Amino acid sequence: MDIEIRSIDNIKGKGLFAKKDFNAGSVIFEEDPIVCCQFSWNAAYGYKACDHCLRPLESAEENARRLTAKPELHLPYSNLCRTDKSLITSCSLCDIQYCSTKCQTAAYNQYHRTLCFERKSDLEDHPLYQLNEMWKQMHYPPETSTIMIIPRILATIQQAVNPEEAQAQFLQFCHRTVNDDSKIAHKFLGDKFVDQISTLHNLLVQAMNPDRISHFLTQEGFQTLIALIGTNGLQQQLSPEEAVKLDKFIDKLYEDMDKHSGTFLNNEGVALYSLQSSCNHSCIPNAETTYLHNNSRLSLVALTDIKAGDEISTSYLDECTLQRSRYSRNKELTQNYLFACTCPKCELQAHDPDVTSDEDDSEEMSE
Ligand SMILES: [Zn+2]
Ligand SMILES: [Zn+2]
Ligand SMILES: [Zn+2]
Repeated sequence: MDIEIRSIDNIKGKGLFAKKDFNAGSVIFEEDPIVCCQFSWNAAYGYKACDHCLRPLESAEENARRLTAKPELHLPYSNLCRTDKSLITSCSLCDIQYCSTKCQTAAYNQYHRTLCFERKSDLEDHPLYQLNEMWKQMHYPPETSTIMIIPRILATIQQAVNPEEAQAQFLQFCHRTVNDDSKIAHKFLGDKFVDQISTLHNLLVQAMNPDRISHFLTQEGFQTLIALIGTNGLQQQLSPEEAVKLDKFIDKLYEDMDKHSGTFLNNEGVALYSLQSSCNHSCIPNAETTYLHNNSRLSLVALTDIKAGDEISTSYLDECTLQRSRYSRNKELTQNYLFACTCPKCELQAHDPDVTSDEDDSEEMSE
């Protein structure tokens, strides 16, 4: 390993550090998620993806045809498409699709043995199905997470050879107080839906056998899980496969897709990554997360040259928020992640007045 996790101090906790030099643009590390799940609306709108690794299950051409509603559309260089449909397989009991038998076996051994719906005819009566439907009513696009990753987390613990170890893997993502968890859960679900948290909770309790996970099925345990997916749900966007750079054609294609399919251009999901979760935020990050393999495997890529011993950081803020004032950036970080940033940029701007930046002002005015 060219990196290590070290503890920094009581406030920042741990961080990720380089053990060798990295040039800008090089891959620092790659990792598969402990667990991931496609967003609920994303799946409902027909974005076909492997249930285990989120690899697209349709060819680039099919994808473009579906998104633009133009069945006659032809993509140039479609031979470059990396989707190999001959490898696609599905669960014989519930019909869930996978990109390969490798993913099918991995899913079955990790969580699907527990979560398989089995009898398709009773699908709509299944509490897991209802949990997903309930979630969709509460969480309209653009999606930032899905509750369906929670049964996967719990089933992973139940099916693990060593459940304590599996549980510890997930507990690294939740290290807050009950009060903080409650704050995050409320912020994440929004005031309108706070009452519905008990409905979600009841459906989960009905869906899961409490064996080995009963502490997560209590009200507090459930709140911890909601806070976990609210903050650590590292959203990823796996773009469609039009890697071919024929600018005008692609621009038009995206325009047509946008007209027909709105925000569902990408195959999107939520995933928990072990190493990535130790990477702290900075407003001048030296690394960024990318997805180079057309599935949920993550690559952390250096944005600048990094020296051995340097802390590796990414930005938790979107590009737009990152350009805003120190006050605006920290408002966002405090609300969503419960910390204030102390990166060099924030230190440098420590004496800036506590005002929102211009973009915020104009947004607030237009609201
Ligand atoms: Zn797969
Ligand atoms: Zn199944
Ligand atoms: Zn900062």
